[in-house]
Amino acid sequence: MHGSAHGPDLLTPLGSASSDSPAPAAGQDSVRVSVLVETPQHSGLLGPLDYLATQAWPPGTLVRVPLGRRVVTGLVWAAAADATLADAQLKPIVEVLADLPALPEPWLKLIRFAAGYYQRSLGEMAMMVLPPELRQVDATQWARRLKRMNKALGLEEAERAKQPPVEVPWPEPTPEQTQVLAEVNARWLALGTAAATPPSVSLLWGSTGSGKTEVYLRLAREALARGQQVLIMVPEINLTPQLEARVAERFADRHVVSLHSGLTPAQRLRHWTMAHLGQADIVLGTRLAVFTPLPRLGLIVVDEEHDPSYKQQDGARYSARDLAVYRGHQEGAAVILGSATPSLETWHNALPVAEGGAGRYQRLLMPSRVGQGHMPKVRLFDLSQQAKPGPGQEAPALAKPLLEAIAERIERGEQSLVLLNRRGYAPVLHCSDCGWKSGCPHCSAWRVFHKVDRTLRCHHCGFTERVPRACPDCGNQDIAPVGRGTERLEEQLAEALPGARVGRIDADVTKHKGALEEKLASVHAGEVDVLVGTQMVAKGHDFRRITLVAAANPDAALFASDFRAAERQFALLLQAAGRAGRDAGVAGHSEMWVQTWHPAHPLYQALSRYDFESFARQQLQEREQAGLPPYAHLAMLRAEAKTQAAAQAFLDQAAQAVEAHAAQLGGILLYPPVPTAVQKVANVERAQMLIEAEMRPALLRLLQAATQPWLALAQKNRPNGLIRWAVDVDPLSI
Ligand code: ADP
Ligand code: ZN
Ligand code: ZN
Repeated sequence: MHGSAHGPDLLTPLGSASSDSPAPAAGQDSVRVSVLVETPQHSGLLGPLDYLATQAWPPGTLVRVPLGRRVVTGLVWAAAADATLADAQLKPIVEVLADLPALPEPWLKLIRFAAGYYQRSLGEMAMMVLPPELRQVDATQWARRLKRMNKALGLEEAERAKQPPVEVPWPEPTPEQTQVLAEVNARWLALGTAAATPPSVSLLWGSTGSGKTEVYLRLAREALARGQQVLIMVPEINLTPQLEARVAERFADRHVVSLHSGLTPAQRLRHWTMAHLGQADIVLGTRLAVFTPLPRLGLIVVDEEHDPSYKQQDGARYSARDLAVYRGHQEGAAVILGSATPSLETWHNALPVAEGGAGRYQRLLMPSRVGQGHMPKVRLFDLSQQAKPGPGQEAPALAKPLLEAIAERIERGEQSLVLLNRRGYAPVLHCSDCGWKSGCPHCSAWRVFHKVDRTLRCHHCGFTERVPRACPDCGNQDIAPVGRGTERLEEQLAEALPGARVGRIDADVTKHKGALEEKLASVHAGEVDVLVGTQMVAKGHDFRRITLVAAANPDAALFASDFRAAERQFALLLQAAGRAGRDAGVAGHSEMWVQTWHPAHPLYQALSRYDFESFARQQLQEREQAGLPPYAHLAMLRAEAKTQAAAQAFLDQAAQAVEAHAAQLGGILLYPPVPTAVQKVANVERAQMLIEAEMRPALLRLLQAATQPWLALAQKNRPNGLIRWAVDVDPLSI
């Protein structure tokens, strides 16, 4: 692993040819330290580089070191050194960010684990998770920044001392909450005492609105009372402000900081530093927050643990949920995974052995909604019962009985939510004369028609053009939208429900900062009767007046090739249903409508009974038969190239390079390379090769051994058009 700085393919850090820097004076810089610098996996440099220092700085110290012609920030990794290099071949460290305490040992372990598990270089992993600002400052700038941050904190505290925050009352826990708290505590308290600490991971499986957040808050309070720090993760940045307000109110006398990509670089640095220095008590953040150094970590909460946002989709493709579990184990912290629809991996881990599960996690149950709230009654509306549209006519967006049900709500002053997971006006424009369709010239995908600004936009590469007046191929003036996105649904509902106030929330109308909050506020204020939205609105929001939720067109997921499509759709629909009936006054008559051609489908049948357990059982059976996670372990080797042939050639060679080793390890299957679902994006061809293993250790061993040969193969294939390649361990979709 250690950075040999030799070899043709490797970055030459600063070998003997370093005539531009003075040789270290004898006796001065005489201690060797190895330092991680930001080096992408593909540079071939996987480990740390050696430098000279005046003293043996402890691992985790941030330093500035020369690299090529630049001076960059690095992280002291170990005192050990590459003995093949003579002192004279090494450069001295430029300076040390001495007043930043070294990153703690468990943090270094987390980086080592994540880099090894997700097949990235140590330097990339370590540097990627540090605040960008921290990587840019020199020692003097850092000292100044730190002083300023401490001053700001001092002022805040003085302010607080002058005007003590108002304590808000905590609600009495419900019987279910009381039970759950007792069960967690029983395990949690055992954590500290046992010599070999068992991992304390609990799955809090509770309906939406069952009071899970309240449980997190109570557990956080207990951790804080013990002098520990708490990390709370949410899947989406959109959900942080709501939770942040709730947490800040409860813990008004504590320091609560957030960490997500929406912060300014300065805020992020400040919050991270407060966490690392132990000044912040609670850190609330999205997936990147899992890497926050927390010297007194006692509790990690992963809310909506099933959410795909926890998996990073480019670069180092880590799963923040899985790393949270690892971290909890390493640092003796309790981990709470919360969800109404757990991921099947987590579910399997929490299922007792007697029920066919792994029995690894504690399973906690909160089936009821708090107060008088009820989950809405599910109505599966069979689309085949609808009158067929006439020739050349389109079926209406919502069936007549559903429209009537919405109209009734409007009369009563209640709200409805219509879910359609496709933004834009129509997914494609079509010429009925010659058959032209609005394809993207750069991708193997259609361009979506957006009526507001009359554009055709590619949702893959972003390529945007004005809508042509006539068919570009035959001149026909009559090109028509096919299908329906949220924009069109909004328009059609406004037509079908005269006088109704129809609103829309999707990525298009919430691009600007603050736009989502504004939209949500108007829904909460009752200024919208019918809200049209994508999955964005299904998650987390506490709408009080919604009594009807409808899924306009959810069938596609039933037949998707992705093995997780059903699991995701079930979660989304259940989550959406959870937006209705949250208020006792209206809960009694709330409904969830599902428009479908397949009302008998097991997914919908389970949904209509809110029976996650049977849905999970049936899905797990299928997964077991098909050899899919959690019964098998997957890695995807992905390649991007100028041609499909070049992408596949690299994958073929990559497979050949490890075939023998795979056979020797056993239980490993290398699938033939195939084009990805969207094969071409922005003129780049994509292909992938699936690796399936019965045992995780074998998979990881294979990947570890493959790194160097694959790097070499990539170099060789570059002249043939290979652009990028990456390994995705535990891929979300295949
Ligand atoms: P979840 O996170 O499971 O969706 P929340 O914790 O947000 O549920 O609780 C749902 C609603 O019930 C919130 O408005 C919350 O304030 C309220 N609530 C939760 N627990 C209690 C309780 N013990 N007593 C009264 N209200 C509660
Ligand atoms: Zn045409
Ligand atoms: Zn495109």
